Amino acid sequence: MRASFETYRKVAKACSAYEPMSETKISNSCCDTKDISCTNCKHFDEDKYCVLDLYDKIVENHGIQ
Ligand code: SF4
Repeated sequence: MRASFETYRKVAKACSAYEPMSETKISNSCCDTKDISCTNCKHFDEDKYCVLDLYDKIVENHGIQ
């Protein structure tokens, strides 16, 4: 999967299954919406792949580049 950081952010914002990784709770979790990104999501694996297989669907449904 090839994608820019901006794409990961757009997808995560559109994703209902986004769950921030526990590390991100170190920062103030009430106000970290700017850090929403697949790269911060629990469901994103080491191979930069969404284990729930939602990424491609969201890209398609939302016309995200
Ligand atoms: S990694 Fe998957 S579940 Fe997580 S925000 Fe991205 S598309 Fe959604």
